[in-house]
Amino acid sequence: MTDYEELRRLMVETQLVPRGIRDARVLEAMLKVPRHLFVGESLQHKAYDDMALPIGNGQTISQPYMVAVMTELLELKGDERVLEVGTGSGYQAAILAELAAEVYSVERVEPLAVKARERLERLGYDNVHIMIGDGTEGLPDKAPFDRIIITAGTPEVPAPLREQLADNGILVAPVGARFSQQLIRLRKREGGITEEHHTPCVFVPLVGRYGWKE
Ligand code: SAM
Repeated sequence: MTDYEELRRLMVETQLVPRGIRDARVLEAMLKVPRHLFVGESLQHKAYDDMALPIGNGQTISQPYMVAVMTELLELKGDERVLEVGTGSGYQAAILAELAAEVYSVERVEPLAVKARERLERLGYDNVHIMIGDGTEGLPDKAPFDRIIITAGTPEVPAPLREQLADNGILVAPVGARFSQQLIRLRKREGGITEEHHTPCVFVPLVGRYGWKE
């Protein structure tokens, strides 16, 4: 029988720590969440490899390192309300649910959203709310959010998401061209926004009113 706990330990020790992930809470969450339950059965043996994997409907579960980096950049302490755009498998949402108070995650592809919701329920995450729709519009009736994470590549940060970020909030997103982006982190302070540039990356496109056109 596969020892998934051991595979998670190896993932953390060989992929995350050597590349500079330091936040102990993030490492703990990556050790805990059973990533193999977020992919199809035929891919479970690859779930802890250093790569993104297909999850159906032309979409992917992000590479473990990318999940860890983005989560670390969010600087979660435990009491935040978080918006994720791009639920996909629900794996990133589970990591966020371990580290924040409440998570809203929006997915435009209905079958993925339904599967992710079932998985998260089965695993006992009762602080995650999966919504179906165009996440580039955010969730105006649930805003503001202390943290926002966009897990699909976007030409720019959608204006509604900038607006729905709370004061002292942080937003992390892959921003750039269709096939190559850079992680950026926005911080909102007293209404002003500062921007930092981080790791280069490649994500599937954010498709919607304020993202890429289909
Ligand atoms: N966070 C996911 C996980 O842990 O499995 C991986 C996300 S995958 C790289 C990107 C996801 O964003 C896809 O599932 C895609 O359907 C979704 N997406 C793209 N455009 C979107 C939009 N406008 N609103 C919501 N979801 C969107």
